[in-house]
Amino acid sequence: MNARAPKSRFTGNFTQQKPIPDAGIKAALAVMQSGRLHRYNVTKGELGETALLEREFASAMGAKYCLAVASGGAALSISLRAIGVKPGQTVLTNAFTLAPVPGAIANVGAVPAFVDVTDNLVIDLDHLDQMIAQTDARTLLLSHMRGHICQMERLMDLCNRAKIQVIEDCAHTMGARWNETLSGRFGQVGCYSTQTYKHMNSGEGGLIISDDATAMARATMLSGSYMLYERHGAGPEAASFKDICLETPNCSARMDNLRAALLRPQLTELAENCTAWTERYRVVEAGLSGTSGLKLIERPNAEAFVGSSIQFLLPEFSPTQITTLIDAVAARGVELKWFGAASPQGFTSRYSSWTYAPKQSLPQTDRVLDGLMDMRLPLTFSLADCALIAAIIRDEVQGVATI
Ligand SMILES: *Cc1c(COP(=O)(O)O)cnc(C)c1O
Repeated sequence: MNARAPKSRFTGNFTQQKPIPDAGIKAALAVMQSGRLHRYNVTKGELGETALLEREFASAMGAKYCLAVASGGAALSISLRAIGVKPGQTVLTNAFTLAPVPGAIANVGAVPAFVDVTDNLVIDLDHLDQMIAQTDARTLLLSHMRGHICQMERLMDLCNRAKIQVIEDCAHTMGARWNETLSGRFGQVGCYSTQTYKHMNSGEGGLIISDDATAMARATMLSGSYMLYERHGAGPEAASFKDICLETPNCSARMDNLRAALLRPQLTELAENCTAWTERYRVVEAGLSGTSGLKLIERPNAEAFVGSSIQFLLPEFSPTQITTLIDAVAARGVELKWFGAASPQGFTSRYSSWTYAPKQSLPQTDRVLDGLMDMRLPLTFSLADCALIAAIIRDEVQGVATI
């Protein structure tokens, strides 16, 4: 007779976000009832939802300027162009990031060059130093991928000395801080996504912040402002547009009032949500800690991260062991993603699969990605759910370790 207890199973949904706050639904209904969804469809002197979102986001981030756009990827490519990146130029970026990041570089006709990731999932600053010396790059598109923030003082020092402009991709660090400074406030420009799986959800959407008036005037024109740039909530003075308004193309990537209406109440809840994410992260982390063969990512004290997802490494596992583990936890309701798969799957791909970029061989990054597991932690999971998920992973990692 088998005396073993039946295996526990998790029944939650890893892609289930929280509903839009009632205030957002109400505001969205009002926009629909008004029929005035386009951001510039406002009466004289009126600030629409999009302009108000810009004003509120700039203030929340402590930035002079904010521009709302159609997506996080659009925020990145508009920012690259706005700070003067030209076709054919090399732009440095993280080897460990998501496809829209090198995609944004390609979108402006520039050429991505990848910088290694460390075992702690941040950009390798020694390799960055080498890449600055070896390439003619003038720009770093720094991706705080999955919310991991590198030593920002050292990075900025390195880039400032080499006159490298920094754009921060804060898709996973909206609300996070390094040594008390908000992510997005170190570089010349900070970019955010409000796509469903990020920290605020409008389906699609993006935000750009900066203190640089000329770059933000260009970004505004690029986003498709026509000559209506004075109808913005946190844009530069009209004088900043004088020299650039005719020479900057309209690339039509605006946000609309409907999405902005959904976002404004979420901004009010951002800090609270960030805390709730990180509580969930800490429960999973504690549940996995001490699992033989499983390496958790060290989180420095300086990093006030947002735990909207968690990563860990299985450095000694073979590809067969990893796929066996993914199947075993999936059978118990837990969705793990793997950055080491030979071909891209779902949202997950690796630098070598972006074949439009010049080929690079990065053995250190390969070694990290080969053992890198990734899991979402939506706010619809309770702390008990997180404990159960960790117990399932721990159990199956131990089982697979012995095969
Ligand atoms: C989602 C994401 C983006 C792009 O955001 P979209 O709004 O989906 O275009 C950029 N960088 C990272 C790291 C992301 O996860």
